[in-house]
Amino acid sequence: MATKYLLPEDQIPTSWYNVAADLQTPPPPPLHPGTHQPAGPDDLAPLFPMGLIMQEMSTEPTIEIPDEVREIYRLWRPTPMIRARRWEKALGTPAKIFYKYEGVSPAGSHKLNTAVAQAWYNREEGIKKLTTETGAGQWGSALSLACQLLGMECLVYMVKVSYFQKPYRRSMIRVWGAEVIPSPSDTTECGRAMLALDPDSPGSLGMAISEAVEVAVKRDDTHYSLGSVLNHVTLQQTVIGQECLAQMELADAYPDFVVGCVGGGSNFAGIAFPFVGENIKKGKKTRCIAVEPAACPTMTKGIYAFDYGDTAKFTPLLKMDTLGHDFVPPGIHAGGLRYHGMAPMVSHLHQLGLLEARSVMQTEVFESGISFSRSEGIIPAPESNHAIAVVRQLAEDCKQSGDEKTILFNLSGHGHFDMASYDNYLDGKLEDFAYPEEKIKEAMKTLPKV
Ligand SMILES: *Cc1c(COP(=O)(O)O)cnc(C)c1O
Repeated sequence: MATKYLLPEDQIPTSWYNVAADLQTPPPPPLHPGTHQPAGPDDLAPLFPMGLIMQEMSTEPTIEIPDEVREIYRLWRPTPMIRARRWEKALGTPAKIFYKYEGVSPAGSHKLNTAVAQAWYNREEGIKKLTTETGAGQWGSALSLACQLLGMECLVYMVKVSYFQKPYRRSMIRVWGAEVIPSPSDTTECGRAMLALDPDSPGSLGMAISEAVEVAVKRDDTHYSLGSVLNHVTLQQTVIGQECLAQMELADAYPDFVVGCVGGGSNFAGIAFPFVGENIKKGKKTRCIAVEPAACPTMTKGIYAFDYGDTAKFTPLLKMDTLGHDFVPPGIHAGGLRYHGMAPMVSHLHQLGLLEARSVMQTEVFESGISFSRSEGIIPAPESNHAIAVVRQLAEDCKQSGDEKTILFNLSGHGHFDMASYDNYLDGKLEDFAYPEEKIKEAMKTLPKV
């Protein structure tokens, strides 16, 4: 009986899977932030290349992966799918647990899958430089490497507090040849305005997005790149789930549950959408469960409405599960899961009842991740531990009922740069926090009237 399910390099998927093609009702289009009319390709053109804008709006069932992108994917893809036999035993569950390990990418997470694709489409259209924001640095490091591999420049605005507190992802960004600036900075108009208001501002993702967008809009040879949320990002992550379909066949199994953590929704979409497609097309009955922090309960407590993607209200309005664009994230230890909104495609499928969502408290999250690590070895990213917490709940259900269910989850990245949060947990310094109901009601008042 195998433990690792490995695919040969020539079985890297040749196309991305577009779940939109299998839906009877497509998700509503983004709206222009000023006019509230559907945003067309031209509205997005100052920021993104046409190749990606077309993917954003596509209803084609599949989109071919460019050869050069697949060639770069060979550095770490196909990623392994592993049966967590030792953890199953430790949990005493009859469930079969499999995990797809995206932490083998050089940047340490799934984010490189879309970073390489986005850089490629930009370079094809003559763009020389990409700007972006990063919080804890996962996305900034992935995009830096992608740009380096494709001969492009990259400029990363990193939230100031993380820039100083999480220096090693900043170092990775520099090793891979990109420039990294703590945000807010004096290099942009909006940054200078923010500094004038508060010279000691710790920064936020919303501010860093505004700086990165400003630089991109002002220069013809420069575009902006976003690491999650948008349709082209969730689409490009489907290499994960497609490989899993083939690997499940190798394992002679099929998942009753597919589980992933959600921040903007991209790694979950990547593993789940191909299985949602099988549910729709072949009548399979896999339950796909998105897991979020109770401190940032976008899908479980937020509402489905049009909202801005950023605090400064620069972005088009997206119809999504949201906590309101003014949402101030509590300081939980999963930097990648603190966004106020959710990918419109994930939100839409949630609305249609094709996906489920659960929230978990952070001490259970770390306890579960450590339980996993003590059996399987890998130290997961704190984000991934959210998925692991729900897998453990499902495994416990199986133990109670005696059901031998098959569970697959996405281990979206490793936690080697997040050891300080593990220390905090082990030192008993982490507290559970659920985002208060009143705050959500308040935030709803600021939603744009559409
Ligand atoms: C960024 C990140 C996430 C959250 O982003 P999604 O777009 O929801 O996938 C999850 N896990 C890891 C390891 C990350 O780096």
